[in-house]
Amino acid sequence: MSLSHFRLDGKVALVTGSNRGIGLATAKLFAEAGASVLLTARHETDEVRALVASDPARFAWLAADVTDPTIGEKLTEATLDKFGRLDVLVNNAGVAANGNFHEFDDEQLEFIMGTNFTAPFRIARAAIKPMLAQGGGTVVNVGSISGYVANHPQLQVAYNSSKAAIHQMTKVMAFEYAARNIRVNAIAPGYVISDMTQGAIDKGEWSRIWADNTPMGRFGTTEEMANCALFLACPASSYVTGAILVADGGYLTR
Ligand code: NDP
Repeated sequence: MSLSHFRLDGKVALVTGSNRGIGLATAKLFAEAGASVLLTARHETDEVRALVASDPARFAWLAADVTDPTIGEKLTEATLDKFGRLDVLVNNAGVAANGNFHEFDDEQLEFIMGTNFTAPFRIARAAIKPMLAQGGGTVVNVGSISGYVANHPQLQVAYNSSKAAIHQMTKVMAFEYAARNIRVNAIAPGYVISDMTQGAIDKGEWSRIWADNTPMGRFGTTEEMANCALFLACPASSYVTGAILVADGGYLTR
């Protein structure tokens, strides 16, 4: 083993939800580690536009909504068209919504499960096919500590359930493809500073409770999550499959 095993030279990655936050940090780190990256989300941000313009051979962008039933085929084909192969999928796009269980309506339920579970399922299902044809690949799903606990103080039953489902999908996929050189793992972030949490962090009321319940006493950064995704995506983790890498400042220790 050498440090070169922590790199992704010559690899091609597809990272969903990569116009900002954890997805963008992951796309940038993967490129630094040597990969070419297809970035995708619904809205092209200035940062993504500048990134793609800075190195069009290494980065590509596709605007797409992951709730489109054909999203798996669309993203896989776009990656193959641009880069000729697909080695790493990071299923990162996700949304959250708050509400009591007894008042959580069907529209909200579909919004959360459609984005956080059905979409990653469809995208992984399509992305696995070229990986099988190439003889290998890696999938990194973005779960959450929310897959293990009831979020507090915000009530998020659908979000919690969608992340538990992603963890289970990760394990079953890992089992199914372990002998075919495709590793499937997940990261389970704790509270991370991003657009998803910034509103609550600014208000302070909830985020004080989140920080108090985090033994490290601070929130994670998008770069810290990208580091975990890189480890799971690269050959350094060659004997790791079906793992859920918790990165939460110690939140789940009690
Ligand atoms: P952001 O809100 O910053 O990023 C969410 C990303 O998902 C954006 O790129 C967004 O782009 C994309 N997205 C949302 N809906 C869709 C859609 N329908 N189609 C395509 N893309 C979509 O949050 P984070 O970076 O924090 O979140 C990334 C992942 O990390 C999520 O899965 C989240 O659940 C998970 N996570 C985050 C934690 C945190 O504390 N921040 C903790 C634990 C897990 P656009 O809206 O333009 O489509």
